[in-house]
Amino acid sequence: MIKKLGLVAAAAALMVMTGSCQNKDGPTDVPGFAAIDGEYLKTGGDGSNWAMTGFSYNEQRHSPLTQINADNVKDLGIAWFADLPDARGQEATPVVVDGKMFVSTAWSKVLAFDAKTGKPLWSFDPEVDKARGVKACCDVVNRGVAFWKGSVFVGTIDGRLISLDASTGKQLWSAQTLDPKSNGTITGVPRVVKDKVVIGFGGAEFGARGYVTAYDADTGKQVWRFYTTPNPKGEPDGAASDEILKTSAIKTWSAKPKKGDWRESGGGGTVWDAIVYDAELDQLYLGVGNGNPWNHGVRSNGEGDNLFLSSIVALKPDTGEYVWHYQETPAESWDYTATQPIILATEKRDGKDVKVLYHAPKNGFFFTIDRVSGKMLSADPFIDGITWAKGYDLKTGRPIENPEARYEKTGKLYLANPSPLGAHNWHPMSYNPATGLVYIPALYIGGAYMPPAAPNEQERKPLGFNTGGAMATADLPDDVNFVKAVKAAITGKLVAFDPRTGKAKWTVDHPASWNGGTMTTAGNLVFQGTAMGEFRAYAADSGKQLLNLNVQSGVLSGASTYMVDGEQYVAFLTSKGGAFPLVIGYAGATSSAIPNIPRLIVLKLGGKVALPALPETPPYVWDPPAKFGTAADIAAGQSNFQRYCLVCHGPGAVGNGVLPDLRKSAAIADAGTWKSVVIDGVLKGNGMVSFAAVLTPKEADQVRAYVVTRAHYGKEHDAALVGGGKPAR
Ligand code: CA
Repeated sequence: MIKKLGLVAAAAALMVMTGSCQNKDGPTDVPGFAAIDGEYLKTGGDGSNWAMTGFSYNEQRHSPLTQINADNVKDLGIAWFADLPDARGQEATPVVVDGKMFVSTAWSKVLAFDAKTGKPLWSFDPEVDKARGVKACCDVVNRGVAFWKGSVFVGTIDGRLISLDASTGKQLWSAQTLDPKSNGTITGVPRVVKDKVVIGFGGAEFGARGYVTAYDADTGKQVWRFYTTPNPKGEPDGAASDEILKTSAIKTWSAKPKKGDWRESGGGGTVWDAIVYDAELDQLYLGVGNGNPWNHGVRSNGEGDNLFLSSIVALKPDTGEYVWHYQETPAESWDYTATQPIILATEKRDGKDVKVLYHAPKNGFFFTIDRVSGKMLSADPFIDGITWAKGYDLKTGRPIENPEARYEKTGKLYLANPSPLGAHNWHPMSYNPATGLVYIPALYIGGAYMPPAAPNEQERKPLGFNTGGAMATADLPDDVNFVKAVKAAITGKLVAFDPRTGKAKWTVDHPASWNGGTMTTAGNLVFQGTAMGEFRAYAADSGKQLLNLNVQSGVLSGASTYMVDGEQYVAFLTSKGGAFPLVIGYAGATSSAIPNIPRLIVLKLGGKVALPALPETPPYVWDPPAKFGTAADIAAGQSNFQRYCLVCHGPGAVGNGVLPDLRKSAAIADAGTWKSVVIDGVLKGNGMVSFAAVLTPKEADQVRAYVVTRAHYGKEHDAALVGGGKPAR
């Protein structure tokens, strides 16, 4: 008996030491915390865990689980849900290891749950300075955590990379990856490769010089850094990128200094999302962002390709040393980032197995790239009606551009598809090896580019977007029919793209834009949430819709799936937020009446939990203050609104359901209150910092005069403009 007890104790001790957990009720042996290492992430395991954001190093977001499949997916219902702390965009893919779920939320917070019951285990708040929110181009989102040998890693809006103990949520170390005075923000997922945590950041619009940094996973000590644009002073950085920037990249930037050019801005090239490890070739791929300013004429005097903007760059993960690159959009001038998710696969081409990389960036073309050589093998449109290029020359790897797209050269307004929001943004895409299809959450959002019309639009400013173009083009004219037409044209599509044919095998039209990411399984399924508050499943091979669950709020994120005690679950987040609602605003989105509910929802077969009823919202009663100011005041206010306010508070000051609708704000009625917010910064704790650095008190009050006119216009026309007269929430 004593001997037996001893054995039990030894087994228990072993369990604690290895973190291994034998699953007595289920068919799977769930690997524990300590088992999640480079070997495990090569495959992602048997599907019991969803141990990293893209499932495994290949980032196919494909699970081998089949318990939920095309035959029974209609029986999915809610197993449990948890409301999240902030009504801002929720973009994370839930990570699940050994029955525990780790989710990052707005303001870089991390929450841990029992993945079967939803019981909260711990939470971590990095206490980000909320004033930083004004530097977050695309909302204070976070796209997820990394898990490695019992640690959880998260990047923060204020530029820290933090290691947490996965069992307790206690901070193990924190590394400051960004100068606190810089414009950068971290929203992307850290990746862990060979005991190094790699992280980039975003913020090119504000002025930044992109880089990624690798830190020791145990200590947080920096191992290497790679810059994506040349040093503005022409000096070495003492970084892994020094050699390639000196021998190659610098020649692709204008040598002639120009006011507001890349030397002042840093050039952009931030790596804010895709960082993907190729375990077969031991290479790390970076998806590099757009230039700053956007306007290539201002940024680089209209000269050169500007490496490594809008490129996929391959590095050696041990040292950060350059291996190869492919630039998707040379001389980028449209915010066409290459930061979008990257998928690694092996494809049969001409009877041979070819190691390929799949990429569907903002510019609308689907790229297949040879991972060994970096050669682009094919580039085919994954949306219709691309205006900036006819296609690609496969010999040179360069786009065949439409000259009209170079607004910086023509000096004319250029109506574009895709827009700066892209034909595909950060939303995860997935790949199913059984169908050979890539499931892309594609966007149809037209846009307009215009060179700066007034000095106010060209000059670099310490706050707000610096695009070197006219942001006025983001405003919609006050024509109800025009606005309705624009709304109807802003849509989404789920594209099941076949890289072997360069065409979609099947597509699903979505009435609204900014739908969720996709996830696919061996159960012949593709999952996608929509902006219209639905969570859907389709047959992966045919596209037949098999599930359409009402989840009340929009879905931006990608789902994950996992198994606990023999039962398969599907998890995802709901919310509105992110770049689209902020930039497009209430009037521009078909989904504008869908509520913004930040929530984690977990489904299982036969799940019976009901979501709480939506609160009743009484119709808004318009009571705008009297108009004031001269026509010149209002015009000046409009210009400054477009430059500094529009990207957060919406075109035409029409609220977006995420940040306050200024037309309905009490502050517009009182000059003193308005000044205290806009000039004195009393709401900086909410992310609304002082704009005194760029606006005089008089200019701020002109903005108020403009917003008051917008409130009067809203009183007259909102019902028709927003459709159904439903108030923004
Ligand atoms: Ca950008």
